[in-house]
Amino acid sequence: MTNFDFIIVGAGSAGCVLARRLSENPNHRVLLLEAGGKDRNPFIHMPAGLWRLRDNTRVNWNYETEPEPNLAGRRLYWPRGKVLGGSSAINAMCYCRGHRKDYDDWAAQGASGWAFNDCLPYFIKSEDQERGACDYHGVGGPLSVQDLRYHNPLSERFLQACEQTGLPRTDDFNGPRQRGCALYQVTQRNGQRCSTAVGYLRPAMKRPNLTVMTGALVQRLLFDGDRVRGVTVLHKGEEKHFEAGETLLSGGAINSPQLLMLSGIGPGAHLHEHGIDIRLDQPGVGANLQDHLDICTVVKIGTRESYDTLNHTLAGIKYILNRSGPCTSNIAEGGAFIVSQYATDDRPDIQLHFIPAQLDEHGKNVLPGNGMTLHACPLRPESRGHIRLKSADPQAAPAITANYLDSDYDRRMMIECVRLSLEIFAQPAFAETVTDRVFPAPEASSEADYLEFVRRKAETVYHPVGTCRMGDDDAAVVDASLRVRGVQGLRVVDASVMPALVSGNTNAPTIMIAEKIAAEMNA
Ligand SMILES: Cc1cc2nc3c(=O)[nH]c(=O)nc-3n(C[C@H](O)[C@H](O)[C@H](O)COP(=O)(O)OP(=O)(O)OC[C@H]3O[C@@H](n4cnc5c(N)ncnc54)[C@H](O)[C@@H]3O)c2cc1C
Repeated sequence: MTNFDFIIVGAGSAGCVLARRLSENPNHRVLLLEAGGKDRNPFIHMPAGLWRLRDNTRVNWNYETEPEPNLAGRRLYWPRGKVLGGSSAINAMCYCRGHRKDYDDWAAQGASGWAFNDCLPYFIKSEDQERGACDYHGVGGPLSVQDLRYHNPLSERFLQACEQTGLPRTDDFNGPRQRGCALYQVTQRNGQRCSTAVGYLRPAMKRPNLTVMTGALVQRLLFDGDRVRGVTVLHKGEEKHFEAGETLLSGGAINSPQLLMLSGIGPGAHLHEHGIDIRLDQPGVGANLQDHLDICTVVKIGTRESYDTLNHTLAGIKYILNRSGPCTSNIAEGGAFIVSQYATDDRPDIQLHFIPAQLDEHGKNVLPGNGMTLHACPLRPESRGHIRLKSADPQAAPAITANYLDSDYDRRMMIECVRLSLEIFAQPAFAETVTDRVFPAPEASSEADYLEFVRRKAETVYHPVGTCRMGDDDAAVVDASLRVRGVQGLRVVDASVMPALVSGNTNAPTIMIAEKIAAEMNA
């Protein structure tokens, strides 16, 4: 079959949701195209295996940014899933929706119909919450959300330390009050990762009206005048064409704008530089890139409690026998949402992820001994970057410029992140645990030192969004129904449509976006 009602490009967080929901109608013929392969790697499914997916080009695009001007010219490592489930197959499984005001702001900025009360039913619809249903949570949905089966004793001490700074404990970051500290709930089912491939796609795979093709790199869109009629795909070394009434791009915040530009939809002068015929001069494509920049404060501890010296054999046996123990941990166990001194309202503006292990350069640089890491990131940065083409070759990586720390506010907030992290490690709960400071170096004490540390060490916490922004102004790439403005038969449905970052991790919001649009399309 080469003719479909819907072609979905990318089987990631959003793409798997669309495939499942659109194929619920037996009259819809749906094709899901994924550049990566099947999710057979066991480290995808064993939660603590996430570190083994880093650098693995079979499941990860392993992007890196262009030299970042305000981060000492460093190229930052940007992992992205390239496998069924996309980034939900390689992420840290923290289940967070952000703050209700994030969505109300989207609506106020032109994304009509996307205020929090409009979105909440789709968060609930997606969810199978282990703790049961309530006004904020749902049961019976495809995405399993559970409490961690195991957590390290250091994570408990982290929560005590947060409380000692005056931050209250909460039992739910996704309930009526986001502020506070808690262990993260995770997208897991019975101690295993629940990616969207597992939760949404697998149960739908047997449907006769759904075709799933892996190893299928979509290269360009096909047009009939201003109507998109399908895609060209590179599959097993051959170019193939598929046609559909509607094409849905779910390639994520890096690849969806790349594919639009390869197809002639983007900033005209830039497309011209690469010899690409301009179909629609839309400067908004690839613009408005936003990401959570994150700084890791690392300390040494005097015990062997951290995962640095975990007995892997024992942990592996526990996991194999009954899906229990440290292998079920997402490693980023503890969390906090903080309202900093710079906040203008009661909405948290800093998020913490606590790791009971030493983490440097995404774990690429293994540090000796035992320690702990506190990730801290400002939640609503002002800096805006962009995705551009490096080449008109669809197999070439695009140029990513995040343009981090481009604003005074962003620099101040990163300094505040370092200060708060050090304050937490200095609390009585850690007095008998912490021995030395690793990062920032013990002699760093001034704001200038902290900023220099940030410039040398800050990394992404993996939440790029915004590169095909939804809105009602001329620079918005998609409208509130996620239709690409200026062409027919094309939508973008993934993290790239978010007008602005949400105050938290981005997997659940991306799934919500796909649920909401699928419901609109099925109606
Ligand atoms: C290491 C890491 C940790 C993270 N941790 C968390 C976390 O703990 N909690 C959380 O909420 N969020 C987390 N995130 C972020 C979250 O996972 C992403 O925001 C979300 O998965 C984005 O979904 P998406 O549908 O936009 O894109 P993706 O899930 O990335 O899906 C895009 C899919 O499209 C495919 N594709 C791209 N281009 C093409 C093409 N041309 N042809 C065919 N297929 C194509 C890709 O291979 C991929 O499968 C993390 C992300 C990463 C990378």
